[in-house]
Amino acid sequence: MTLSATIEEIKAYQKEMEKGEVKPDSLPPCPRCHVESNHFKIHAYRERRFLIIIKMLVQTIHCPLTRFACPGCGKTVTFYPDFAIPHKHYTRKTIMHFAESYVGSDATYEKALVCEKSVPGYPDGQKTLDSSTIHRWVTTLSRMSNTLRKALSMISQESPKTTIFRDLAQWIVPPGKYRGEDRRVRLHNCFQLLATEALFKILFGLSIFTKLAINCAFT
Ligand SMILES: [Zn+2]
Repeated sequence: MTLSATIEEIKAYQKEMEKGEVKPDSLPPCPRCHVESNHFKIHAYRERRFLIIIKMLVQTIHCPLTRFACPGCGKTVTFYPDFAIPHKHYTRKTIMHFAESYVGSDATYEKALVCEKSVPGYPDGQKTLDSSTIHRWVTTLSRMSNTLRKALSMISQESPKTTIFRDLAQWIVPPGKYRGEDRRVRLHNCFQLLATEALFKILFGLSIFTKLAINCAFT
């Protein structure tokens, strides 16, 4: 089981980028002036720090991400490769894994952190990931309602007979996981995003963040 993107995946992406093979074509049109994304130009490369988990230890790796600019209005947007989530250092696999491990089961936050009988830690041996980290990731994912809505709309166009809407509506948040209505809604939204991402990857072969992060990443 891999708990994060691997060094190899990140290095392979960096190579693609250096060869100019990362294209803006899979992005949606500019939300401001509607220029098609294949006209976007490379604007800059931003060095980013990623945290990956190797043999249960958190390691740092740097990789630049491409920013494209819309030639119509000059807006810039970050292209998020498969392993990245907007504004997060941990990779998509890690965040999705632990959010799913908590939301998709009866586990407490502490239990959800345990993989193969241990909890990922830092190389200095001082700290491990803690339960507040999962709590935060669940909150982050639950707030991506714009991305979720667009992903669901693409799914229903691609696969009109999809049962995803029924499946999402029928899912009930385990009552032991929340005290207030606010948190129940957050957990429900997070579950929706996780389930939608799984189906989206099957249908489109891409993470919703690669395809739709433009909606939450325009600055
Ligand atoms: Zn534009």
